[in-house]
Amino acid sequence: MKGTLARVGHHAGFAGAAPPDRWPRPRSVPRPERLEAGVETLQGVGPTLARRLARIGLETVGDLLWQGPRRYEEPVPSKRVCDLFGEEEAVIEVVVRSASSRRRGRLRILTARVADTTGEVKVTWFNQPWLEERLSPGTRIRLRGRANRYGFAVSSYDLEGEESTADFAPVYPASEDLVQKRLRDLHSQALVLARDAGEPLPAALLTAERLPLRADALAAVHRPRALEEAEAGRARLAFDELLVLRLALARTATERERASAVPLGAPGELLARYRASLPFTLTPDQERSIAEIDADLRRSMPMQRLLHGDVGSGKTVVALYALLRAVELGRQGALMAPTETLAEQHFLTMDELCAPLGVRVSLLTSSLRAREHAAARQLIASGDAQIVVGTHALIQKEVDFHDLAVAVVDEQHRFGVGQRTALVEGRSPHVLHLTATPIPRTLALTVYGDLEVSELALPPANRKPVITAWVTEERSSEAYKRLRRHLDDGRQAYVVCPLIEESETRIARAAEAEAERIRSAELRGYRVGCLHGRLPSAERRSVMASFKAGELDVLVATTVIEVGVDVPNATIMIVQEADRFGLAQLHQLRGRVGRGAEQSYCLLVSRAPEELTDGASERLEALVATTDGFELAERDLEIRGEGQLLGARQSGYSDLRFVRLRRDQNLLERARDVARGFESEGLLTDEVDRLLGEAEHLGES
Ligand code: ADP
Ligand code: MG
Repeated sequence: MKGTLARVGHHAGFAGAAPPDRWPRPRSVPRPERLEAGVETLQGVGPTLARRLARIGLETVGDLLWQGPRRYEEPVPSKRVCDLFGEEEAVIEVVVRSASSRRRGRLRILTARVADTTGEVKVTWFNQPWLEERLSPGTRIRLRGRANRYGFAVSSYDLEGEESTADFAPVYPASEDLVQKRLRDLHSQALVLARDAGEPLPAALLTAERLPLRADALAAVHRPRALEEAEAGRARLAFDELLVLRLALARTATERERASAVPLGAPGELLARYRASLPFTLTPDQERSIAEIDADLRRSMPMQRLLHGDVGSGKTVVALYALLRAVELGRQGALMAPTETLAEQHFLTMDELCAPLGVRVSLLTSSLRAREHAAARQLIASGDAQIVVGTHALIQKEVDFHDLAVAVVDEQHRFGVGQRTALVEGRSPHVLHLTATPIPRTLALTVYGDLEVSELALPPANRKPVITAWVTEERSSEAYKRLRRHLDDGRQAYVVCPLIEESETRIARAAEAEAERIRSAELRGYRVGCLHGRLPSAERRSVMASFKAGELDVLVATTVIEVGVDVPNATIMIVQEADRFGLAQLHQLRGRVGRGAEQSYCLLVSRAPEELTDGASERLEALVATTDGFELAERDLEIRGEGQLLGARQSGYSDLRFVRLRRDQNLLERARDVARGFESEGLLTDEVDRLLGEAEHLGES
């Protein structure tokens, strides 16, 4: 298959917006700046559509080009309505008899009766109000979908003579208010500019590796005539991504080899006191990780270790151990967290554990008032702060550590690679990265390069898996009844507010309104606090502290509690409109309960199953079925399509868009070999810079 990829017919025609140059350029000269144009430069894109596209991460023409389809629709047979039975996918060609819509909550349900000469069937769409006016009686429509007990469940449609639905077609990640047809059209428009993506690999390399041109690969991915063609295109684009990754890793490895750190010897009296002060004994996995860290800290090569463990596996005590190793020798430790809430939470936890040991912990976030901020910086510079906990505020230039020896970076996949290296730049502390992202060990090595990996595979033994139930909205009063029972037993609870894709301010307001509503309804008489991203940090800290101290019974919260919040007495969680959350996100949220010895519960509330998309039902079913992060990650891959394993756009490695890590082992090896040969040749330099966050500074000025 390789190398035989045919060019798919399309022209690199002139975009209307670009004025011709003095002399027409040859078509083969790529103009990458054209890909920076906003989506509104495409035909048919106004402000509303642009906003919807932005919400799923599509802002420029290039974003469209670089977003491959999740999968391809295979052609299916046409059937007569009277022949519809079973679950088999089919296409029916019908005429609309009547259509009407109604509202249920935030849901808009559109129902139509359609018929051919052999019979009539009922079809339903959710949240597509604009469709109703186009479904006047007599309209011809072609529907692709499956028969079910409610009628015919439509997956796509063609109106009045349009034809794309039944045929081999790309399926893009969509949202409720963005239909495939629209996305396909926009991707087609973007594809016209494929040549402007340039060709970064030398011709000789392409020939040797039998890879198609980048532009042809893009065309093949978006408009293949057959699956094999799409796969060959994807492989080329995946190869580029892996090559960039390997080149970036080679560059950082060279830098690291030159750095040296102060060896920290063996643990002593402070660490013995720390162990004695813990209210539990460490698990075997924690002990093993600590031994591995101790071995690293003895050496003058800076530690670069990844501590990997599922939510609730007990990473924090291990991280604090590493920080205290620095403190014991009169040096400093720092912990960097991805969000303010998480930093504040870590600060509370660490301060509580450190105070009895006589170790001073400081918090540094960008939301501190100027005076507090200056004071904290002073403590850091003088060395009075022995452990510093903070957000990326920690890596800003004006922060000057007295003597940083150990740095811990929490949930590091949320940082770009560049941000992570900034913390260690010019300082060479030993670094421990924490992550709960369930990635198999081999994969971690691939993606994180030569990081050593320690694993907390088993949670503390006294832990009972959280029991998860999925309940429909009609029965949510029972969920609250259950929750009140826990409160009456002296336990605490979380209520997670619906995820609305609006502004941060809107989300905050909705959370406050929900807390207010609950206080006078389901949870009247209980102490209910509210936590969201818009609270000033002092207030957020005080809400968290009161919840921790048991002065609040319930925390109504947005996803700010997704990571790091640790209150073992909280034993039950209700997630409202759980179908709106991603699988990984729900797993993280659920990790907030089940942190003590008590049996904990997670109640997922959603609309009725028949109103949910297939993906949403599958996610909720998966959560009910297992609490194992690895298994859930696997399911997530199946449901969403692969390639997104490493997180959403905020991830430093989100550039692995076309890679299918489980399938691409061979590609990975080829990329590694090629990277070795080209390390010093400046291959793909721009892309490597971008991955390492080094180009950002240039771009911003
Ligand atoms: P995570 O890996 O998600 O960061 P944490 O470090 O927050 O997990 O630990 C989760 C909870 O388990 C905390 O309340 C912590 O005190 C507790 N814990 C950690 N280690 C042990 C252990 N060895 N035995 C019992 N409880 C533990
Ligand atoms: Mg944690």
